[in-house]
Amino acid sequence: MRYLDEYRDPALARRLLDEIHTTAIRPWTLMEVCGGQTHTIVRQGIDTLLPAGLRMIHGPGCPVCVTPLELIDKALAVAARPEVVFTSYGDMLRVPGTGTDLLALRARSCDVRVVYSPLDAVRLAERHPDRQVVFFAVGFETTAPANAMAVLRAHQLRLPNFSVLVSHVLVPPAMTALLDAPDRRVQGFLAAGHVCAVMGWTEYEPIAHRYQVPVVVTGFEPLDLLEGVLMAVRQLEAGHARVENQYARAVHRDGNVRAREAIRRVFRVCDRAWRGIGTIPDSGLALADEFARYDAETRFDVAGLTAREHPACIAGDILTGAREPTDCTAYGAACTPRTPLGAPMVSTEGTCAAYHSAGRAAGPFPVVLPAPVRSS
Ligand code: SF4
Repeated sequence: MRYLDEYRDPALARRLLDEIHTTAIRPWTLMEVCGGQTHTIVRQGIDTLLPAGLRMIHGPGCPVCVTPLELIDKALAVAARPEVVFTSYGDMLRVPGTGTDLLALRARSCDVRVVYSPLDAVRLAERHPDRQVVFFAVGFETTAPANAMAVLRAHQLRLPNFSVLVSHVLVPPAMTALLDAPDRRVQGFLAAGHVCAVMGWTEYEPIAHRYQVPVVVTGFEPLDLLEGVLMAVRQLEAGHARVENQYARAVHRDGNVRAREAIRRVFRVCDRAWRGIGTIPDSGLALADEFARYDAETRFDVAGLTAREHPACIAGDILTGAREPTDCTAYGAACTPRTPLGAPMVSTEGTCAAYHSAGRAAGPFPVVLPAPVRSS
């Protein structure tokens, strides 16, 4: 399969691994930012094949996981209203709020629907002028263009019954917050290729320069990640700190100019709360004043809700790479993909779910002997 099999070639993976082993002389800690990359790393056991001193820690790049509990509760409050058709991507349905989740609301006859695009929600609003259609607009820079297009479309159609519950977050401010942390662990980043496909990589250049960390824009296949690790380690060993692009087949320096323009038109930058991390200045997107009438939070007056995390869940530590899922006492016991206590176990991009689906045992981390990367 073109653009897939060639990035899963075991012989090439072995060569890259050998090169990483000969290049990494000193201990280093790298963070992959994206949950999709975490899944590949954990599923393929890439982290267990690296030199002993080269550590991969997992970043906050799961959009479902970083959506604040308060916002999940707001979604539940909006979805419970009889006039509302609440629409969302499927993985948001099972994320627990303080008391319940969207799936449970649907079982109680609330009109909660899975859509595959925010434009599907706009079409629903066109077809059902007597209902209020709300789309749960979460995610990083990757989903923001489609959500912006949906708002523009609703605006063009002058739809009075469409709105969005927005919780967009931006990657570079989160990286900066991690680097500013007093217990900073990250020495180099693998930046998320799909975010950079939209935004380009110029935002990362001041970060690399100011904090003296290499940032390698990296794809999602095993060979992408191994090459990204190698590029980052080469920089670290040489004392360099610049942005490099491993994912050249999809990412250009300026990203997708039209997508960026749609984001710039519909949204404005705002402070945003990240679940488990707290508020990061200038790390989110909210609707610009021109489109404020499409804000579901205002339309349904759901400000001021209080939320309560499950006491056993250490999602904040997981999302900042401070601890691993196997350090959580609930992991694999009270908390499984069928009975999730926190978002990292629900989302397909969550680190806890990645560890669980890879069969990683709770308790002391298992010793895994090096083996060739599989080509699945
Ligand atoms: S295993 Fe479950 S309870 Fe523990 S941190 Fe992950 S999501 Fe939270």
